[in-house]
Amino acid sequence: MMTGHVLKFLGETKLELGGAVARLGNWCVGRDGDGILWLVLDKKDTGTNTISEDVIRELDGHISAAEADMPTALVIRSAKPSGFAAGADISSFDDMSDTGAEALLQHGHDLLDRIAALPCPTICVVHGAALGAGFELALTCDYRIATPGASFGFPEVQLGLHPGLGGTFRLPALIDPLDAMTMMLTGKTAHTDRAKASGIADVVVQERHVAAAVKAAAKGKIDPPTRGLKAHAMAFDQARSLAARQMRSQAEKTAPQAHYPAPYALIDLWENHGGDPKAMQQGEIESFARLLKTTTSQNLRRVFFLRQSLKEAGAEDDSITHVHVIGAGTMGAEIAAMAAIKGKRVTLGDVNTDPLGRALESAVQICKDSHLSLIETRNALDRLMPDPKGYGIGQADLIIEAAPEAMALKEKIFTDLKGRMKDGAILASNTSSLSIADMATHAPSKTRFAGLHFFNPVSKIDLIEVVTGPDTDAQTVTRLAAFCKSIGKLPTMVSDYPGFIVNRVLTPYLMEAMVLMDEGVSSEAIDTAALSFGMPMGPVTLADQVGLDIGLHVAESLRESLEKPMAEISTALRDKVNAGDLGKKTGKGFYDWSDGTPHPHSDAGLPADLTDRLILPMLNACVEVLRQGVAKTEDQLDGTMIFATGWAPFRGGPMHYARTRGIAEITTRLNELEQTYGPRFAPDAGWQALG
Ligand code: NAD
Repeated sequence: MMTGHVLKFLGETKLELGGAVARLGNWCVGRDGDGILWLVLDKKDTGTNTISEDVIRELDGHISAAEADMPTALVIRSAKPSGFAAGADISSFDDMSDTGAEALLQHGHDLLDRIAALPCPTICVVHGAALGAGFELALTCDYRIATPGASFGFPEVQLGLHPGLGGTFRLPALIDPLDAMTMMLTGKTAHTDRAKASGIADVVVQERHVAAAVKAAAKGKIDPPTRGLKAHAMAFDQARSLAARQMRSQAEKTAPQAHYPAPYALIDLWENHGGDPKAMQQGEIESFARLLKTTTSQNLRRVFFLRQSLKEAGAEDDSITHVHVIGAGTMGAEIAAMAAIKGKRVTLGDVNTDPLGRALESAVQICKDSHLSLIETRNALDRLMPDPKGYGIGQADLIIEAAPEAMALKEKIFTDLKGRMKDGAILASNTSSLSIADMATHAPSKTRFAGLHFFNPVSKIDLIEVVTGPDTDAQTVTRLAAFCKSIGKLPTMVSDYPGFIVNRVLTPYLMEAMVLMDEGVSSEAIDTAALSFGMPMGPVTLADQVGLDIGLHVAESLRESLEKPMAEISTALRDKVNAGDLGKKTGKGFYDWSDGTPHPHSDAGLPADLTDRLILPMLNACVEVLRQGVAKTEDQLDGTMIFATGWAPFRGGPMHYARTRGIAEITTRLNELEQTYGPRFAPDAGWQALG
């Protein structure tokens, strides 16, 4: 017989559940001395639990057994150190959508209803993340016991869906319905403290107290949270209609209905049936099945897999424990903070002391934004050491140079590093426009030198371009890719080319926006066209945000180094830079930023060709970087643009968009634009190979 205390499995591969425990498929099952049935999910051949069809089928068997021989209580938890469960198995969604999702969903709902109806107390123990269907499984239980670090969320909206296994009615029934709707509409996760405060978690206990908490719950000694007034108010149709109207107008700002139908389907569902769980359940099944078939959901699922494939690059272990960052400015400060937060020892150098002080302040803010606990924050800050004298240079496994963008300066920094770096250490530059091949000639080792192009703000943008120079060795690339992953980022391996992938593709878009302004088109009209296409931000706002001086510099350097015709540099841009109006950082650029981020909008009819003039040059540049071998595949390119720039995710990426619209149609349009506006629109030679 096992006791609860024998459940020592976190961080171990072997379950020590005592004699009465059996591994049955994906579940470890056993009853303890108190007659409590433990169902411990340990999905085979993976480090992360998902609620796949076989997991559901097997659970059905275990619940039938429990119904036949009722335990004193039922506990569901995970054996994976990585957390409770990541959600449904997304790879099965295409099949599900083709073969009648409703029947499968109905089976899942029936099972969860049976768990909810068990006469014994049901308890879910959650460590790490309980997401999507994992969260829904937790919601069917009477109690949720969380350990510190547990989090709960419904990320379905990021896949163009809403919860489909009962979340749409079980969460609003458990907590403030408006908070429940916000969680489902935004996909935001409730971390431990919020989960406890909102009533998702009944108690939060350290792992060593889980067994005692389970016993207390089994005896009904944990009080369920009381529901507030708002829950009662939202039972009335009129109150829900009013709230639904506000939700729709809020959603429209970030996810317009034309591009993202799921949030509106969820709001409709809740408005129409929010007072009636049975009707809500039926509506949820039908609506989920409908959404699965939408192009938006198909494309967003594609984006999910693009992320997975970028994650697969590189080794698992980077063998990098100490990072030295040179330059504590905009980029260096955040690079150092991210590395320290993720467990690296970091030394941070600069020629001035002020940036070092600011870097520590910004690290504190990033810890806060990342929901780190006080202890985690303290540990991260302990690992981040200002190092104006460069003592870390000799100990670092990786040196990242993030000094100002000037070849002479970088050359001097590299020369100073010669003979001082540890054997086998890698040097990487965060340059955005200088040639990696040219820089390598000054580096202490050409084979252990590469570009590591982070994006601003580093703490928010997932992607890093790992830029291979002509002599960079394979091990350096693999270790750098592994390093990116170890600090929570997505590496994309690119070869040395002006602008690499992202700036090469984005620059013609930004430059065309400036040309349009020179022609007299308003910045609002230009940004509105891009937003309507699905970009997260218009090009004029983006240029202001990046910094007009940086934009001008990148544009000039691309014009110099590419053989292709590009737009003339806009006079408006030069005038702004000369006047010192550099965008967000100076409070004024093309927009006034003194009151925060501008939200340009134009109701005026948009000039003909406007959207194609902005978007097609990007597609043309994509085809060029593919032809040049800078990106290896269309999928890599799509993932790179989406995760670096937020490129209209519901369209599945620029190349996917080109394929959907038709290669022939795009080249015809480019030819037309070339005739009207000049040679910068001439279709790249690479289109022929795609057609
Ligand atoms: P920054 O001007 O904000 O910071 C540079 C820092 O380097 C300053 O604190 C400066 O004091 C310090 N510095 C100057 N000379 C130094 C030296 N010899 N040794 C050590 N430190 C020195 O610049 P940034 O915007 O952080 O850009 C740094 C690099 O990152 C550049 O190569 C830039 O092209 C690249 N980059 C910038 C962005 C961006 O949006 N800012 C995005 C991607 C890449």
